[in-house]
Amino acid sequence: AAPSTDLLSRRSRSYSPIQGHYYAEPPRIERGWREHLIDVDGRHYLDMVNNVTVLGHGHPAVARTAERQWRLLNTNSRFHYASVAELSERLLATLPDSFDTVLLVNSGTEAVDLALRLARAFSGRPDVACVAESYHGWSLAADAVSTSTSDNPRAAETRPPWVHVLDAPNAYRGVHRGDDAGTAYADDARERFDALRAAGTPIGTFIAEPRNGNAGGIAVPPGYLAAVTEAVRAGGGVTISDEVQVGYGRQGSVFWGFEDHGVVPDIVTVAKAMGNGHPLGAVITRSDIVAALADQGTVFSSSGGSTLSSRIGVTVLDVLRDEDLQGNALRTGGRLRDALVALAERHPLVGTVHGQGLYLGVELVRDHDTLEPATEETRLICDRMLDLGVIVQPTGDRGNVLKVKPPLCFSEASADVFVSTLDRALTELR
Ligand code: PMP
Repeated sequence: AAPSTDLLSRRSRSYSPIQGHYYAEPPRIERGWREHLIDVDGRHYLDMVNNVTVLGHGHPAVARTAERQWRLLNTNSRFHYASVAELSERLLATLPDSFDTVLLVNSGTEAVDLALRLARAFSGRPDVACVAESYHGWSLAADAVSTSTSDNPRAAETRPPWVHVLDAPNAYRGVHRGDDAGTAYADDARERFDALRAAGTPIGTFIAEPRNGNAGGIAVPPGYLAAVTEAVRAGGGVTISDEVQVGYGRQGSVFWGFEDHGVVPDIVTVAKAMGNGHPLGAVITRSDIVAALADQGTVFSSSGGSTLSSRIGVTVLDVLRDEDLQGNALRTGGRLRDALVALAERHPLVGTVHGQGLYLGVELVRDHDTLEPATEETRLICDRMLDLGVIVQPTGDRGNVLKVKPPLCFSEASADVFVSTLDRALTELR
């Protein structure tokens, strides 16, 4: 095989650099097995960042389904076949009764874009509120509500006037900290909504993740989502819970992220885990909301919910259930979190460990009082861990949070390898 560097230079000539890859010299991955990736030279890596391939790489059940369905039929989604209904029923069964309808698409971006279109049509109000430091996708509308400056340093300049950004509800380093942070952030949001209503631009949509994934798996403080949802609805608006990263049992305790917050959103967006790496996403909502688009023609996607992707979607739900991967996220994620918290006691660079289940973020800071982000150190640690066979990358607008979101089949042995490798990298850095 050609060395990675040859392939990199070929890629840089023919493929847009706008779609980046994190490492200066990324490993050239050829295959994967469970939470392990193997490069062209046969080197093994622990995959700590793959929040798409939830069942693990190379899962035989998905491979069998894909091959069988591919041989049987793969067609434009306009035709009628069983798997669309089966997948929709299975998705609805995971949600409260208020949800009664599903739209299948190909990605998280498409799901968010369609969700925004539905919410704006239903509320009759174009103005959308979202929170700082979040990412929702790359299409015109999804990008408009994506506020993360690590993904788009010019996000504030390119934002259209119908998007209103609320403070990131972060009780660790945000403007409000501590136990009452949720109420304080919600009060700020309510004030903002009142001002917008008075200005003649009432909020019709609120979109947020129930745990801020892009910022590092940061908890949305208790009380925040319930209070903001109430305020949005009081003003005639609807809410979108973006579950593209956090949903599908990754947190261990709950299947959907919003379940922790005592709220039921109006619209849920999901992708990534749904297809275990095969392009598949969904908007799950209520038929009265979808009806708002009825006079704007049909919503149609040639491949969204194709025979292949919807059949894979059903298999993914089967394997999640049969292998109790949400339970594994709870158990192994809990063990991993405990070990990371113990590590924090020995390494002052670790500010805090965010998250739960297999949705964790290790925030590195230079000073525990000022919380000065250890951005450079985070990069050095990621580079060193790659040398040591662990793929882990920074996230968050300060680039100082280690993103820990491995496949949900993650084993206890792998958790131990990750913690001991991080321990070594932190020790070497001192
Ligand atoms: N929403 C969230 C919360 C995400 O994390 C992402 C992807 N990182 C998206 C939407 C967009 O999904 P996709 O990359 O499948 O378009």
